[in-house]
Amino acid sequence: MSHQLPPLDYPYEALEPHMDSATVRLHHDLHHKGYVDGLNKAEEMLAKARETGDFAMVKHWSRELAFHGSGHLLHCIFWKNMTPNGGGEPTGALLNSINKSFGSFAAFKGQYLSAANQVEGSGWAILGCHTDGNLVILQSEKHQNLTQWGITPLLVLDVWEHSYYLKYQNRRAEYTKVWFEHLVNWNDVAERFAHCC
Ligand code: MN
Repeated sequence: MSHQLPPLDYPYEALEPHMDSATVRLHHDLHHKGYVDGLNKAEEMLAKARETGDFAMVKHWSRELAFHGSGHLLHCIFWKNMTPNGGGEPTGALLNSINKSFGSFAAFKGQYLSAANQVEGSGWAILGCHTDGNLVILQSEKHQNLTQWGITPLLVLDVWEHSYYLKYQNRRAEYTKVWFEHLVNWNDVAERFAHCC
């Protein structure tokens, strides 16, 4: 099941003069398409690793998966976040939440644009919603570093040395195997899955 480049909801020139049609065309048809292709390639190579049992390149393909997967998802949102004759201010529940989280719409705008302007190198400014409904403004360097936006964690394994060193010292692989085989609460994982999918 491969990922597809979603079509734009508007013509390339629809965002003129604020965003020119040549930029939209290149950005969507070439850049975003590149992330879709990269994501599909990473998933294909990881599937091959699972089939053959050769996991030597998992680090590389995991990085590719994070980079292209996050790039694809963020661009999907980005295109939908824009519309001809957009702008203005939000209303209703979103405005209330912005006011609650940031003090005022003007303050939100100030922080959001500053976050965008101050991203080091390539990246994004992101307004996100926590599971508790609170809003937060984040920067992302590149697209991922090193996760995918929008993911709800289902099963997490701490591999900081503080989580295993006293008992396992440098034998992390032993720790993770034992953890997986003896400690995972699959009922909890299943419940989290049911709630997010
Ligand atoms: Mn882009």
